[in-house]
Amino acid sequence: MDIPQPRIPRPSGRLDGLPGYGRGRAGGAVPFRHRLGSNEAPDGPTPAVQAAVAAAVAGANRYPDLRGETLAAALGQRHGLPAEAVAVGAGSIVILDQIVSAWCDPGDAVVTPWRSYEAYPIIAGLAGARMAGVPLDTAARIDPAAVCAAVGPGCRIVLICNPNNPTGTVLAADEVDRLIAALPAGVLVVLDEAYADYAAPAGEVAALPARRLARHANLAILRTFSKAWGLAGMRVGYCLADPAVIAAIHAVQPPFPLPGPAVAAALAGLAEPDAVAARVALNAAERSRLDAGIRAAGLPVAESAANFLWLPVAGAAEALAAHLAAAGIAVRCFAGEGVRITTGAASDSDAVLAALGTWNARAAAAPPR
Ligand SMILES: *Cc1c(COP(=O)(O)O)cnc(C)c1O
Repeated sequence: MDIPQPRIPRPSGRLDGLPGYGRGRAGGAVPFRHRLGSNEAPDGPTPAVQAAVAAAVAGANRYPDLRGETLAAALGQRHGLPAEAVAVGAGSIVILDQIVSAWCDPGDAVVTPWRSYEAYPIIAGLAGARMAGVPLDTAARIDPAAVCAAVGPGCRIVLICNPNNPTGTVLAADEVDRLIAALPAGVLVVLDEAYADYAAPAGEVAALPARRLARHANLAILRTFSKAWGLAGMRVGYCLADPAVIAAIHAVQPPFPLPGPAVAAALAGLAEPDAVAARVALNAAERSRLDAGIRAAGLPVAESAANFLWLPVAGAAEALAAHLAAAGIAVRCFAGEGVRITTGAASDSDAVLAALGTWNARAAAAPPR
């Protein structure tokens, strides 16, 4: 990241050369009517969640829970784990940052399949750690054997995003189990499951962490309210792990990790699992419609288990993102690699499919090179 610094004391050299985190939309004069760049839910919070947030504001003169204990207890109940097996934070990405700073010393390695979430190299770099990216296979899937092979003496953390962002590809539960079992017990395995709700039945999504934690103490599972739970703006994430892992996270976490209204939103959301089920069902319908339309337009698309689709168009990524931006559609562009499109409401899919129709026509009209 480039920070102009002629007039200030020099910040740490760890900041030199860090990639920046983008906003998920191309620039330009057209206002975006379709915000499909950040994998947000298309609908606002339910009336019950909004009421809970409003009620919690009345107590804003008081500090909230020191460690978010009330929410940790509710999440423990949901997942069949003690509250001591839960850490909460202002987004799962913040908890990941705390995990990396608790486990990594400068020079240590974080092994992660790559391409993956663009926050990972920033977080590793801030801790002075090295991010060792392990290439995905030719279908943009995580390659468990290659991940195991990349784990060397300096590796402290193996970080697995599943389903993977931005490709949407998923490792099946038994493949994940085998991968965890194959990794050394001295390495902390972090499963970033921000999109878990889209990839498996709700009962499985709730029960799997406890089953895995019963077998492996070197495991930290990250979940978030930002995606299928529809609360990205409230910034609530959590970690499920052995109480000793949670204690280490608490050791680096500043007190009062979550404001009261955010806790209230999460608690009210937990009381309405049907709203999540409805979002997941809408996503499945729109994702398959978009997937079919993208294929019909002659564009490549990876098999997705999440609320977005990955179009590995390589050198055409920037032109495609600009074409969509001109139609008022914000997507996430990975220059030279591909474009990630969030599945939103039906009207969002309609807009994407219409724009892809004209992209196809323009491409077909272009003279052969
Ligand atoms: C969206 C996302 C998150 C969620 O981050 P929050 O801080 O909880 O909003 C985490 N990991 C990945 C891979 C994501 O795409």
